[in-house]
Amino acid sequence: MTLQIQSVFEKQKEHALLLRTERYSQRKQRLEALRNWILKNREHLYDAVDKDMGKPPIEFYGVEILYVLNEIKSALKNLDKWVRPKKIDAPIDMLGTRSKIMYEPRGVCLIIAPWNYPFSLCIGPLVSALAAGNTIIIKPSEFNKHVSAAIAAMVKELFDEKVVAVAEGGVEVSQELLALPFDHIFFTGSTSVGKLVMKAAAENLASVTLELGGKSPAIVTGNAHLEEAAERIVIGKFVNAGQTCTAPDYVLVHNSVADKLVEHIIEKIGNRFADKAIPLNKPSHYTRIVSHKHFDRLVGILDNAVEQGAIINHTGNHDRDSRLFYPTVITNVSAAMKVMQEEIFGPILPIVTYETLEEAIDRINQKPKPLGLYVFTKSRSEQNLVLKSTSAGGVCVNDCAIHFLQHRLPFGGVNSSGMGKAHEYAGFLTFSNEKPVLRQRSGLTSVQALYPPYTKLKDKIVDFLFRLF
Ligand code: NAD
Repeated sequence: MTLQIQSVFEKQKEHALLLRTERYSQRKQRLEALRNWILKNREHLYDAVDKDMGKPPIEFYGVEILYVLNEIKSALKNLDKWVRPKKIDAPIDMLGTRSKIMYEPRGVCLIIAPWNYPFSLCIGPLVSALAAGNTIIIKPSEFNKHVSAAIAAMVKELFDEKVVAVAEGGVEVSQELLALPFDHIFFTGSTSVGKLVMKAAAENLASVTLELGGKSPAIVTGNAHLEEAAERIVIGKFVNAGQTCTAPDYVLVHNSVADKLVEHIIEKIGNRFADKAIPLNKPSHYTRIVSHKHFDRLVGILDNAVEQGAIINHTGNHDRDSRLFYPTVITNVSAAMKVMQEEIFGPILPIVTYETLEEAIDRINQKPKPLGLYVFTKSRSEQNLVLKSTSAGGVCVNDCAIHFLQHRLPFGGVNSSGMGKAHEYAGFLTFSNEKPVLRQRSGLTSVQALYPPYTKLKDKIVDFLFRLF
C-alpha cells in the first residue's frame, strides 16, 4: 500500500471525529467554495473533458455542471432542515420517553467514479457527503486523465486533505483504497466491479451505495405517440454517444408499429445527430467513445450481431482513430447475440418486436432488474400494467433517462443495477447514519412495569398489552 493513501486515510479518520461537532455553517462554507470554484473554472473543466472525450460543451454544461450546481444549491437551501433531528412519537408502552432521529455523519467515505460523466459522478456524491459532514477520498476514473487531474487540482486548492482528498489512478489504486476500513463506500460503475466492491466492503462491514448499470429497456406499445417516442429514444440513447448508464439499451416495440418506429428513429437521428443538422465528424457536436478499447468492444458486439443475422438499418463510417462511432440502429435481433446479453454502453440501438405487452414484460422480468425502464404509451392501463409488473431502479413514462435530471427524485438502482439512493435529500441520507435516540425520564417509567420479579401483576400487564392488538 502506498504510504500516502494510508496516511491521508489516518488523518481523515482523526478529523472525521472533529467534524461531528463543528457548526453546520462550516459545511455550507465548503459547499459555497466548491460552487464558486466551479462557476469560475467551468471553461477550464470543459477543456479537460473535451480532451478526454470530445464532449459537446452543451452536453457537459447542461448535464454535468448544472446538475452539480443544483445539488449544491439544494444542499445550501435545505441543510438546516435536513440536519434537524426528527421527533418520533412514543407508543403506549413507552409513555414518558422522548425519541428522535439524529443525522450523524457516517465518517470517512470513499467515492469511486466511472468515466462516462467524469466530473458530475465524482462531485455530485461529494456534495452530499460534504453536506452530511463527512471526510472523503475520491477516486476518479483513470480513463479521463485530464478531468481526473482537474478534479485533483480543484480539491487541493479548496480543501485540506484531512477533509477531502483525491487518489488518482487505476484499478490498483481502487483496490488499495478498498482494503481500508472506510465507514461508507459510494461506488458508481459496472455491475461486475460493483460485486468486487461489495465483497471488499464486507471485510470491514463498510456500508455501500452501488450505482450500477444494466440493460435498460424502452417499451413502445401500439398506443404510443410514435414520432415523439422515436425522438426521445434517440436523444436518450445517442447523447454522450450512448455512454450513459440510464440510456435505453434496447427497444421493445409492438410488431404492429415496429417499421414505422424504425423509420421515425432514423429520421430523428438525421435531424438531431447525423447527416443533416450536425456534422458529426466535428468533435464538438457528438461525443467520442472514451477509449480505443471501448471502441473495439462496440465494433465486436456489432459484428457478432451481424454474423448472427442482425440487419443494420442505419449507421455511418466508424472512425477508429478519432473514436467516432455513428448512431447505429439494428433489427432482426435475437436473444443469443452479445448485443442482447451485455450492457451496450455505446451508440448501438437494437430494436426487438413483441406481440403482447405481457410477453414484453416477461422478457424484462427474465433479465436482471434494470437501472431504468421506459414505457411509451398513451394508455393509462398499459402504463400501470408495466409499472406494477416490473421492477427497475427508476421509470420514465413517455420519456427516457431524464429522471436522473429530476434531482428532487431519489436516484439509484435495484439489486443488479444497484442499491441505495443518491441526489439531494436522498444523497444526504445516504451519507448520514440515521441514529435513533431515546431519552428516558427520571423516576417512575413505563418499562419498569415489566421489570423482574415476574409477579402475577406483571402477568396481568402483559395480558392487557396483548389486548391492544
Ligand atoms: P467500471 O466498473 O469499469 O469502473 C468504475 C470505477 O471502478 C473506476 O474508477 C475503476 O478504476 C474502478 N475499478 C475498475 N475495476 C476495478 C476492480 N477490479 N477493483 C476495484 N475497482 C475497479 O465502470 P466504467 O467502465 O468506468 O463505467 C461504466 C459502467 O458504469 C456502466 O456499467 C454504467 O452503466 C455504469 N454507470 C452507472 C451509473 C449510475 O448512476 N448507476 C452512472 C454511470 C455509469
